[in-house]
Amino acid sequence: MKLHEYQSKQIFSKYGIPIPKGRVAATASEARHIAEELGGRAVIKSQVLVGGRGKAGGIKVAKSPEEAEQLATQILSMEIKGLPVRKVLVDEAAAIEQEIYLGITNDRAAKKPVIMASAAGGVDIEEVAATTPDKIVKVHIDPLLGIRDYQARDIAASIDLPREHWKLFGEITKGLYQAYIDNDATLAEINPLVINKDNKLVALDGKMVIDENAMFRHPNLAEIRDLDEEAPSEIEARKYGITFIKLDGNIGCMVNGAGLAMATMDIIKFFGGEPANFLDIGGGAGADKVAAALRIILTDTSVKAILFNIFGGITRGDEVAKGILTAMEEVKPQVPMVIRLVGTNAEEGRKLLEKANMITAETLAEAAQKAVAAAKGA
Ligand code: GDP
Ligand code: MN
Repeated sequence: MKLHEYQSKQIFSKYGIPIPKGRVAATASEARHIAEELGGRAVIKSQVLVGGRGKAGGIKVAKSPEEAEQLATQILSMEIKGLPVRKVLVDEAAAIEQEIYLGITNDRAAKKPVIMASAAGGVDIEEVAATTPDKIVKVHIDPLLGIRDYQARDIAASIDLPREHWKLFGEITKGLYQAYIDNDATLAEINPLVINKDNKLVALDGKMVIDENAMFRHPNLAEIRDLDEEAPSEIEARKYGITFIKLDGNIGCMVNGAGLAMATMDIIKFFGGEPANFLDIGGGAGADKVAAALRIILTDTSVKAILFNIFGGITRGDEVAKGILTAMEEVKPQVPMVIRLVGTNAEEGRKLLEKANMITAETLAEAAQKAVAAAKGA
């Protein structure tokens, strides 16, 4: 789950990280009022869950409340990378001396969080990472020890930060790390962390991504989740406890079990097809869950065939079959469907499905080949 800039910065602020004064607005007149409160000069920032807002024209500095209203009107009517702007953050405008990058993420290979920092922060950080990676300093954190003072000092020295800022930079780095740990984040990032004309460090931007699997530990974060910004199919899937990830292919997959779903996708590719999604309906899925899963798969218009691969253990074959039949009445799929059903109550399930004109298969290889052929219109 991604947090908006304003939400991330509010969290950062609780961890002692200096952020600009400001508030979020949903209308241009609200934006004007906030700019008035801030003394006139303000930066108007689109709140959408994608990067590169600055380059897309979604961040503008206003010199007066009137201009703030005008720019907010303009930005609130924008779409950035396909996402409509529904809110703007109106912040005290900063006069920038230097832009620093500071971020924490998980380094899976090292099995540790890694802190990354660069003196060349700002909107071109991806370019810096691609062309001059040596300008980005990386320091791994032992999760049992946490971040040590000397590590923060090492980072500060490596990015040539003037010594007068080291103390606060250390506190910011520790605060960011603590925010990352406490919220089960997979990313906590400040880009840019600026030195302003008053020679103070301020976090101008903020970004956090929270591990979906840890959401149950953070009811406060679930509350601020912005459903407007998420794919409807993924919201629907979450509601039913279905793990669903949309992909670019044209063969919809409905599978019980994550490992089996991965194997199903592999074998589809092996026979020359492309999966349209990863979908795990989980163990013991009943008819309603199967129906929801089928609805979710069929909302994707590029789906040309569906492959059901169900290994009945806890999940019963007849329950799955009933779910498919219920869903078919509801959504009336127009695409060929191939099913491989084995295990508990598979026979009962197959009998139910005979009426539904489904293509059946005995083995996964056979099912995958039939699905690939069906998707190609064979
Ligand atoms: P992003 O493009 O989505 O990463 O949005 P940011 O919040 O990082 O803003 C992009 C860029 O806009 C920053 O790198 C700054 O150069 C600039 N910017 C953001 N806030 C201010 C501000 O208050 N004053 C000035 N002068 N520039 C700002
Ligand atoms: Mn940024």
